[in-house]
Amino acid sequence: MEIEIATIGGYEEVGRQMTAVRAGDDIVVFDMGLNLSKVLIHDNIRTEEMRSLDLIDMGAIPDDRVMSELDGEVQAIVPTHGHLDHIGAISKLAHRYDAPVVATPFTRELVDEEVHDESEYVVNNDLISMEAGESMSIGERCELEFVNVTHSIIDAINPVFHTPEGSVVYGLDKRVDHTPVIGDPIDMKRFREIGREDGGVLCYIEDCTNANKKGRTPSEAVARHQLRDVMHSLEDWDGGIVATTFSSHIARVKSIVEFAQDIGREPILLGRSMEQYSGTADRLDGLDVDFPDDLGMYGHRKSVDRAFKRIMKEGKEKFLPVVTGHQGEPRAMLTRMGRGETPYELTNGDKVIFSARVIPEPTNEGQRYQSEKLLGMQGARIYDDVHVSGHLRQEGHYQMLDALQPQHVIPAHQDMAGFSGYVDLAGNNGYDLGRDLHVTSNGNTIQLV
Ligand SMILES: [Zn+2]
Repeated sequence: MEIEIATIGGYEEVGRQMTAVRAGDDIVVFDMGLNLSKVLIHDNIRTEEMRSLDLIDMGAIPDDRVMSELDGEVQAIVPTHGHLDHIGAISKLAHRYDAPVVATPFTRELVDEEVHDESEYVVNNDLISMEAGESMSIGERCELEFVNVTHSIIDAINPVFHTPEGSVVYGLDKRVDHTPVIGDPIDMKRFREIGREDGGVLCYIEDCTNANKKGRTPSEAVARHQLRDVMHSLEDWDGGIVATTFSSHIARVKSIVEFAQDIGREPILLGRSMEQYSGTADRLDGLDVDFPDDLGMYGHRKSVDRAFKRIMKEGKEKFLPVVTGHQGEPRAMLTRMGRGETPYELTNGDKVIFSARVIPEPTNEGQRYQSEKLLGMQGARIYDDVHVSGHLRQEGHYQMLDALQPQHVIPAHQDMAGFSGYVDLAGNNGYDLGRDLHVTSNGNTIQLV
């Protein structure tokens, strides 16, 4: 059976991930993501109303025209998790394929919301839920399996495409976490089994976000411990405390909510995406999120302002707003608070906790710098970098190679400079560039069998 891989997006950047694997006549597409930085650099663009080709020209979504070079039928579109760089182009591209979107329940729900907000295209693809540990048939001879992984969003999986020539494991995005705060630990046992099955692993496509970093990515339990330390140290502060983190990082939001209650404050989630992600996670059964029943979540401008007014009236020392704006995004809640545009008045000594790291990119760095300066001018004290990454570092990459023992590896989710650490690591473990280690860019196909 011929096995061919098309590296469509996310091989020259972190963002707009998309990869297709053809096994005989059957194709599975992994991820259809958006490169948000290409959108945000323009003022006031509404992607919901934009055409696919314009977004492709901007470099915002994958250029899927290479799909016409693959001789087969798409049987499934499989987003690995709910981050926008993995699902954000489904609303623009999925309608071109007569195939269902197959995802874990939380990811499926986020795709559903994404598709619902789309105004340019009607996306009628079936949305199918499949849990980690489950499988489905693809064509006559292949199977798609979801293996549970741990990342900075809940319900993440690595899909495994079992073919008669061996398995193709799509390894985006994850870290090796045995204590993830919400959900099950990464299923390393299953990866090790797949590496030792008949046929083994034909190809492994790897998340190289942190491939240039030595050592091991700590568990989410470490970020939780850092947060507990910071927040408990503020127990006696009788002014304002505000926290910000990735809205989609439900485990982190849960830790902040719990420690807010521990130090005698009422947590309130504020901002459109805060309400969206946490609301969705709270609504779905079986995710083990366990937010308090009376947790306030407000997204619309008016209800946010009402919540802020209540906080100012009853006393800032009784509350802990968890807000959007960890990257200093100009229109996010924390940035607006810094500019004095909300009813919440920051005063000398108020604390702002960033449970996030600045994404190392000039736009983000500039915006975050500006946001921190504005907050500082109002007297706020900044607690920075209370965070651990969701992506493997080098020792995690080594563990995955050891578990899967793939015949071929393809680094992904970075640019050329970002691949270099992985190329070194794989090279030192017996792989040869051009033979079984395939460094590639967007829009290429690789024939493996
Ligand atoms: Zn991700």
